[in-house]
Amino acid sequence: MAKRDYYEILGVSRDASEGEIKKAYRKVAIKFHPDKNPGDKQAEENFKEAAEAYEVLSDPQKKQQYDRFGHEGMRGGQGFGGGGMNMEDIFSQFGDIFGGGGFESFFGGGGGRGQRRVRKGSNLRIKLKLSLEEIADGVEKKIKVKRQASCGTCGGNGAKNGSSFQTCSTCQGSGQVRKVMNTMLGQMVSSGTCPTCNGEGKIVTDKCTTCHGDGRQVKEEVINIKIPAGVSEGMQLSMYGKGNVPPRGGEAGDLLIVIEEEDHKYFKREGNNIIYELYVNFADAALGTSLEVPTLGGRVKIQIDAGTQSGRILRLRGKGIKDIEGYGKGDQLIHVNIWTPKQLSKKERELMESLRESDNFRPNPGKQEKGFFEKMKEFF
Ligand SMILES: [Zn+2]
Ligand SMILES: [Zn+2]
Repeated sequence: MAKRDYYEILGVSRDASEGEIKKAYRKVAIKFHPDKNPGDKQAEENFKEAAEAYEVLSDPQKKQQYDRFGHEGMRGGQGFGGGGMNMEDIFSQFGDIFGGGGFESFFGGGGGRGQRRVRKGSNLRIKLKLSLEEIADGVEKKIKVKRQASCGTCGGNGAKNGSSFQTCSTCQGSGQVRKVMNTMLGQMVSSGTCPTCNGEGKIVTDKCTTCHGDGRQVKEEVINIKIPAGVSEGMQLSMYGKGNVPPRGGEAGDLLIVIEEEDHKYFKREGNNIIYELYVNFADAALGTSLEVPTLGGRVKIQIDAGTQSGRILRLRGKGIKDIEGYGKGDQLIHVNIWTPKQLSKKERELMESLRESDNFRPNPGKQEKGFFEKMKEFF
């Protein structure tokens, strides 16, 4: 079969400029693009033919040779050897003809040509309340989640049986629609999800009676979640593929777990440290004693030295929360408060009165401990 004239294929005159040739090729390529003409052999031939013509006419040296010798001049050497180009060559060589994005999307985002994008279902978000004890060392939780899962009757395609489908006529089954617009900069191509079939490429004609064509059913599932140590309020963990399945098949979305910290009876959290407010009576602080305090890992005995001032901070190393990045463990900081009695018996009052005048009971701020905030600064 005789080859058609390259200028004729692109619909340009022999004295067309480089820009005109490029523009013309773009137009022809869009018209015969395989994504727009699925299964159309003639369109594919035209598409290849246009690419071959453009390959020659866009190269000054080849163009000159072609102008002088016609197709004969293209044989051998740097020509095509008469075989034309295959699709991969065309996409890799001319993929940038529209300048980046526009053409990329036109050709299906590079490499993905002809393949429908995998549709992903929506993410599922749940809140998970954790105690400081659970956060301190990490925990494994089993939680019930209601999610959109594949319909058990139809297997997720939404159809009554295998033949209850028809190809979407809007997009011819590709799931994508492409718009070519004429703008000041030339033709712009944009692509989007087909509005008729929502990108599915086919339409269910006879619907599954269980899911009414949706392909999904709400199912309750028990999911095992491993929570790492050291998470904090508002942190979001995600479990891949444990969210909702999209209608009529595709990839499930993710399960997003938003962490909430439960208020603790005794403790406040400060980063990876745990703060505990301890109240000791005046006599214990003056005389010294040993007593038990709660920690995240159970009760622990501590020593209160004789003469302990109110506001003192004691540190229990490693009794805090494990760092989420694995940088060790926080501490428990015990903030000592001296408890002042509000009511006194007659005898207590007499004792206090006799102590009041004692020299040792006179406050001496110069020898006083540093203020609470100054000390907290040293700790953090
Ligand atoms: Zn179904
Ligand atoms: Zn469609």
